[in-house]
Amino acid sequence: MILFKRAVDLTGWLEKEKAGGRSVGFVPTMGALHSGHISLIAISKRSTQITVCSIFINPTQFNDARDYQKYPVTLENDIALLEEGGADVLFLPAIGELYPDGTKTLEQYDLNGLDTVLEGQFRPGHFQGVCQVMFRLLQLVRPDRLFMGQKDYQQCMVVQRLLSRMGLHSQLERCPIVREPGGLAMSSRNLRLTADQRERATALYRALQHLKEKWHHSGDDALAGAATILRESGCRSDYICVADRDTLQPLQPGDSRPAIALIAAFLGEVRLIDNMPL
Ligand code: AMP
Repeated sequence: MILFKRAVDLTGWLEKEKAGGRSVGFVPTMGALHSGHISLIAISKRSTQITVCSIFINPTQFNDARDYQKYPVTLENDIALLEEGGADVLFLPAIGELYPDGTKTLEQYDLNGLDTVLEGQFRPGHFQGVCQVMFRLLQLVRPDRLFMGQKDYQQCMVVQRLLSRMGLHSQLERCPIVREPGGLAMSSRNLRLTADQRERATALYRALQHLKEKWHHSGDDALAGAATILRESGCRSDYICVADRDTLQPLQPGDSRPAIALIAAFLGEVRLIDNMPL
């Protein structure tokens, strides 16, 4: 695996590879890597010739400064996992490589309301930050395919919108959620959970399964049941929502449009998200 810290070195190397006709897959991450991230590398390797992974903890997408400061960093382990997973390139930029003019006056993107519901409502500015870093990374890597996890379902929708609005030609591949044996979706933030909290955090998965089983028959009662599952495990939920899979607008019981259940909940100080198509 080749490690690039400077954007100019990365783009120079990629230009030569692309001129030789090689296709490029891209897996952007914030590090503290786990099997969920590595599954994206594996999927990229199946359909592209070069897989580039980036690790950058993007300050502009954190609406909570403490969350940013406490974001886990496990670089040595990340590099070992990427080597093992077969990544060809790691891009590890310092902040000035991606934001040469600082982060004060950055572009705002029209996301057609996608950035004001669900995560956007509870994390104001979050998706603007995601777009700011993704646009810059995509300009540098210019991948044929971009691999992102359904775990961040709304983020996938936002990035799809960014791609079409900015006329970027990368194809977004949404990859399945990788879970722990008990159902907990793998997440870098799980590192901040105690063993007891990890056990309790399976409530997000259990609540989603409850919704999958009950929503179509019992609507609002199913939502109340999911809320109870979370509360009884000590989770404080920001939202439990059944939404239209294509627009993320909340659905009423009985609506036959394709639905997805989405949850955001705190365990202690750690905020977790998960989702499941119904
Ligand atoms: P992050 O490092 O949290 O920004 O995540 C980087 C990428 O990995 C994003 O596209 C995430 O959706 C994806 N990802 C994170 N957790 C999982 C998981 N459990 N399963 C699959 N993909 C994931």
